[in-house]
Amino acid sequence: MSTASFIDQVTLYLQAGSGGRGSTSFRRERFVPKGGPDGGDGGDGGNVTVQGCRQLSTLLHLRYRKHIRADSGEHGSKNCRFGANGADTAIKVPVGTLIREAASKRLICEVLDETTKTVLMRGGKGGKGNTHFKTARRQAPQFAQPGQTGEEGWVTLELKLLADAAFVGLPNAGKSTLLSVISAAKPQIAPYPFTTLTPQLGVVSCRDKNAFVAADIPGLIEGASSGKGLGIRFLRHVERSRVLVFIVSADTSSPVNAYRMLLEEVRAYHPPLLLKPRMLVLSKLDLIDVDKQNRCLERMASHAPCVGVSSLTQKGLEVFKDTLWKLLNVDNGQCALS
Ligand code: GDP
Ligand code: MG
Repeated sequence: MSTASFIDQVTLYLQAGSGGRGSTSFRRERFVPKGGPDGGDGGDGGNVTVQGCRQLSTLLHLRYRKHIRADSGEHGSKNCRFGANGADTAIKVPVGTLIREAASKRLICEVLDETTKTVLMRGGKGGKGNTHFKTARRQAPQFAQPGQTGEEGWVTLELKLLADAAFVGLPNAGKSTLLSVISAAKPQIAPYPFTTLTPQLGVVSCRDKNAFVAADIPGLIEGASSGKGLGIRFLRHVERSRVLVFIVSADTSSPVNAYRMLLEEVRAYHPPLLLKPRMLVLSKLDLIDVDKQNRCLERMASHAPCVGVSSLTQKGLEVFKDTLWKLLNVDNGQCALS
């Protein structure tokens, strides 16, 4: 797997607003035959800016907005009236997003906090009205400045993904398959252990408006925390995530025991991980009958929030995403140890 799949990326065309035209106008009043110029200035065009937002963890909300523009300034008018400035358009992105010129890849900025607003495309200045061009020898200027056009161009937004939720489970539990059906990630799937050699990340969208990043962590085996198997190297990725999702296959002889074993592995590796909110998923639900499903889910639910899913039939996927989304929005540390 290349590192590219760790990066969320969108390319956008940004267009700042143009400045409004300055006005060419002359005062017209009764008894004042040659009133002189009174054309107001055009307003400035709006900027396209970018700003960090900690509620966002992906660029998914920008996937379908290829063209982003700011308003143009209004034209100036008579009686020295200025045109209004065009409104800025602020693009909200997760903290950590890099913004580059699309063609040259030149770095324009890195979004580091929520407070800084960086201008990506500057709006055009409004044109001056004809009042500015009055001189002693030219009392009636018949011209005004046009507004400048706003800056525009293609930019690429890049975000190094950090997992919000980590899938933890034995090899073959169905982690990779689950990630592939709820996100655009295409992990390797095979019916033998350790097909996943590096963690895969996928952006999961939930009820259209929410999105989070899930990581499929390569299978743990018993003793992984003491260096056996492949699990240990990747437990580090678990450390970064906010919620642990324990995945146990429904065809396991005792799903509760399997869950206990996974907990032990995680505890042995790094006890504070168990302070993170966690949930349980009984995967491959299609492999057992409904009676057994109910019995298993009931037993597991006494340990942690629990949902049954089948990646094959798509059963339970929406409930799974909703439950996970709720947990992701609970502060860490509120989940009791068990
Ligand atoms: P991982 O090692 O936990 O990543 O497991 P995989 O996602 O690679 O899946 C292991 C095997 O289980 C594969 O052969 C999958 O086709 C199969 N599998 C995964 N999800 C389901 C499911 O919902 N139902 C059934 N019947 N098989 C599944
Ligand atoms: Mg896998």
